[in-house]
Amino acid sequence: MTSESTQLDPETPATSPVRILGSRGGPKRGLLRLIEVSPFMLAGFAVILLVPATPEVRFVGGTALFVLIVFRSIAEVRGFPKWIQTVTPILLATVIGLMTLFDQEPLYSVMMLFNCLRVAFFDSRRILIYTLIATMLALGIPALIYPDELAFRGLIWALVLASVLFPIQNRSLALADRVGLNPKLAAVISDLLTSDNARKSIVRAAHDLGEADVAILFEVGTDGRTVASGAYGVMMGDLSVQPGEGSAASMSMSEHVPVFIPYVETAAKSLPPGMMDQGLSSIIACPIMRGDKAIGTLCAGWKDPVRRSDGTNATVISLLAAEAAVTIDHTDLFRRLAETATRDSLTGLPNRRAWEELLRAGLVDARQVRQPISIAILDLDHFKRFNDANGHQTGDRLLCEAGATWKNTLRKNDVLFRWGGEEFTVILPNCDHDQALEVIDRLRTATPGGETSSAGVATWNGAETAEELFARTDTALYRAKGSGRNRTVAASSN
Ligand code: GH3
Ligand code: MG
Ligand code: MG
Repeated sequence: MTSESTQLDPETPATSPVRILGSRGGPKRGLLRLIEVSPFMLAGFAVILLVPATPEVRFVGGTALFVLIVFRSIAEVRGFPKWIQTVTPILLATVIGLMTLFDQEPLYSVMMLFNCLRVAFFDSRRILIYTLIATMLALGIPALIYPDELAFRGLIWALVLASVLFPIQNRSLALADRVGLNPKLAAVISDLLTSDNARKSIVRAAHDLGEADVAILFEVGTDGRTVASGAYGVMMGDLSVQPGEGSAASMSMSEHVPVFIPYVETAAKSLPPGMMDQGLSSIIACPIMRGDKAIGTLCAGWKDPVRRSDGTNATVISLLAAEAAVTIDHTDLFRRLAETATRDSLTGLPNRRAWEELLRAGLVDARQVRQPISIAILDLDHFKRFNDANGHQTGDRLLCEAGATWKNTLRKNDVLFRWGGEEFTVILPNCDHDQALEVIDRLRTATPGGETSSAGVATWNGAETAEELFARTDTALYRAKGSGRNRTVAASSN
């Protein structure tokens, strides 16, 4: 490694999803670089300049603010321990309190407010409580010493601070929560859009985004029963919702509204199937609507209590339920489309497109597991004549019968395709040349309707492409036809 190459930050934990190159604090260009330029800092200096005070007090206030800002910025950039961040606002409140003892300037109280507001916006609830206690002492002790000058003012400030700081912090934490939700949200959306199992993605999202410990998706099936089609945190088994059973799940579907149980112990009879004995504290069941019809319900349960139905976690579940119908419809549609694209509509067998994909995959597998693989093309003999004599519909029936009979004659891992017209192909994994000839002869003998068929068979030589292998087999089929039909011909090795 050369001396110019970037190195992994030694502080980056091995499991960190973010690879950080270089330092965490950006280029260090002297002390000024470390000073955070924030609206708070600017407002702090504006207050010190504007609030009436003697020049000395202004100087002391300005210096204290500057020192605090530099100190906190260094602490953040250098990754100082957390307790330093806890101590600084407490220290500042104490210093301001001490200064009030000498000099009862109103600016000091304003600075206290600033100190507390900064903590409410940017720090934790714990630091806010400590800072508030320090501030109350810093206001209270001077007020006891100079009751005439400071008692009333101290009381007013104490009331103001105690009443505004917690709501401010709650708002700020809620905002941070929402911002923190964004990366998770992006991951969940991408999962919902790309996953080929919408049901699994929905219950996973209930966990990842809604923090649910257990999530079960129930859907009305084609037989009219409402059964679990996806589950997280619990075995899905054959859970089902009975109409009118009185559970939150059935109620949400019959009344078309989310049913929320904040205290599970007070509604033991209403728990959705699969959610009893899971140690859950709170549960919600949200109907999945298609138009004005409930087609299912998404149930989520939390071990930690969720007491509000309009809180983030419960809201996430109802939003997921609202989108579930569309997501499920999309994946079902894609699955059906994918299926029709690879399935022959007359015989129900996989078609030529599927053949091409599976043959390629089969060769890759054969190479990996070092096993032989053989293929065959079967063609009904004189099928045109059969059609002409019996009509196309009977011809169609023969094609279906041949497909079904041949399929049933094969092993589970063998795949029969309708390649086109009256031509069928077979992939025989783990099947050598002699076995393949035997299998295909057995198939030909089973040709229904007293008809006959011809076949070409080839075993992969381990090096040729799928196209080359197919071409060899096709040539063998031609030879079978050319030499009188109703026979199997092995492809010549090339
Ligand atoms: P050979 O023994 O040489 O294979 O003769 P053949 O008559 O079977 O072969 P040819 O290629 O001459 O004719 C194939 C016939 O298969 C012609 C076509 O009408 C018929 N065919 C193709 N697809 C279908 C289908 O979906 N349904 C029906 N009923 N007939 C089909
Ligand atoms: Mg034919
Ligand atoms: Mg043909």
